[in-house]
Amino acid sequence: MSRRYSNELIEQIKEANDIVNVISEYVPLKKKGRNYWGCCPFHNEKTPSFSVTPEKGFYYCFGCHASGTVINFLMQEEGLSFPEALGKLAERAGIPLPEEELTDVERRQNEKRRRLYEINELAANFFHNCLTKTEMGKVGLEYFQKRGLSRETIDKFRLGYAPDSWDKLYRAFTERKIPEAYLLKLGLVRKNDNGRVYDYFRNRVMFPICDGKGRVVGFGGRVLDDSTPKYLNSPETEIFNKGHLLFAFDKAYKTIRRTKQAILVEGYMDVISAHNAGVTNVVASLGTAYTKDHGRLLMRQAEEIILAYDMDGAGRKAVRRAIDLLQNTDFKVRVLAMPDGKDPDDYVSNHGRDGFLTIIDKAIPPFEFLLNQAMIGHDSTDMAGKQAILDELFPFISHTENSVKRDSYLRALALPLWLDMGTIRQSFKEFTRRGRITLVSEAQPVKTLIEPDSDETYIVAQAVQFPKAWQMVHDYVEDKDIVQEVYRTLLATCGKVLQETGGLSSAALETVLSEEEKTAYSRLLVLTDTQFDEIRLEESIRRLRIQSLRRQYKEHSIAADKMSRAGDTAFIEELKKCQEIQKEIQEWS
Ligand SMILES: [Zn+2]
Repeated sequence: MSRRYSNELIEQIKEANDIVNVISEYVPLKKKGRNYWGCCPFHNEKTPSFSVTPEKGFYYCFGCHASGTVINFLMQEEGLSFPEALGKLAERAGIPLPEEELTDVERRQNEKRRRLYEINELAANFFHNCLTKTEMGKVGLEYFQKRGLSRETIDKFRLGYAPDSWDKLYRAFTERKIPEAYLLKLGLVRKNDNGRVYDYFRNRVMFPICDGKGRVVGFGGRVLDDSTPKYLNSPETEIFNKGHLLFAFDKAYKTIRRTKQAILVEGYMDVISAHNAGVTNVVASLGTAYTKDHGRLLMRQAEEIILAYDMDGAGRKAVRRAIDLLQNTDFKVRVLAMPDGKDPDDYVSNHGRDGFLTIIDKAIPPFEFLLNQAMIGHDSTDMAGKQAILDELFPFISHTENSVKRDSYLRALALPLWLDMGTIRQSFKEFTRRGRITLVSEAQPVKTLIEPDSDETYIVAQAVQFPKAWQMVHDYVEDKDIVQEVYRTLLATCGKVLQETGGLSSAALETVLSEEEKTAYSRLLVLTDTQFDEIRLEESIRRLRIQSLRRQYKEHSIAADKMSRAGDTAFIEELKKCQEIQKEIQEWS
């Protein structure tokens, strides 16, 4: 985190951006009591457990424990760095952020990123122009036209062609004074052992890959003949991270949001053909399987995900992985087994929009898909085959957190396998025992979102906000009175900050709190009052002390008891301690 910004400036920018306003641009929030509540943008949920406290400018999620200030929110939500998030908020509030606040390193990094985007943009234009405006691009254009793509689609996706030449792009770009280092970095050119630089993409049709904002971050290139590799992709750079991107997400998210459904396919051409046919809620992961980050991208847009992968070996594996990752999320998932081993691209080209939508309608739930696959893979008429099918399905069933669903899956096996429920249940029991699998019962919904403030919570919450409260706690509360360890370290850290800065501003705290302390801190702020309340604090401290002393009394009396029975005379010491504690309890009462 960058700390060259003064705490005053950070506070000023935070104050100028109402946290509820900012977060509302991403998540609908509703006021309930002191706080605002909404569905957490960082984990998948249907009942709101994400809380924002406008008075203190903090958010905290009771589900996934995401927490922080309006700056942290932007960092987490948009994947920004601290200075980037701060810059965005400064701009939003019209506060000029002094350029000199950036270090040279930061300025150079910003400039470098800007250049990387710019050069990719130029490269996309270069490839697109080659395809659409030059003689040499004709082969590429024909390729796309043969696949049935309209000119509109070719322009929309800015499809291109990398010429069949050693260094056309390299020469064109260096003539424009674009540094070789950038071209190498972006993977647009490579250098061979003799030091000669050549174009990385040659004689390939080109697919620009954009981030969610539509900026070109990389390329995929496909050969026109049978040569290998069939696909080449740009290397990962600071602006291109495959696991975080979905191909065509920038073009699909509006439809996904409207229809609440996202269709996930494997290849560039699957996506483009679908869009070309007018099915525009289709995206693809980039040569990697579905990841949790993809889920995060889709989460706020879609309720349902349709997996429409090729049904070859690799495709089936990818489906399984995606099913695993999507299990127990709030996404509704269905799997589309493409008929006759076709890929979506072929299917859309041959059957058009309506044909594709018809088979989408027929997509089946993951369990049904896995059962079908297992039934195809094994002979369900003999006992060994039946067992193999069970073994294939039990992992999925045992990971299902909803016990009612789990039971219905087990039941659904009886008929196709000709087994009675007793046998299936017995076999399932053995499976979980063998694998030492503990069945999860359904995740408890957050029932009381604002838990009844325990004395400990209240005391620590006061102490981390108000120096006077911290002093009272320091004077009267002992370390062992505080049960939660994170609270003990949090109090100690606050003490240091108080000593060094004379206050407990959240900007100062943020620079020194550990991640765990930060989470606890945000949670406390969201949970409790804003006011310093000396009388209530005193009351709480008194109760906490008595409770703690009683605990200690019990420990010592148990120890004394054990020792005396074992003939250890040290039990007398323990009894003395008990007496002392007893006295102290009376004093506090
Ligand atoms: Zn959450």
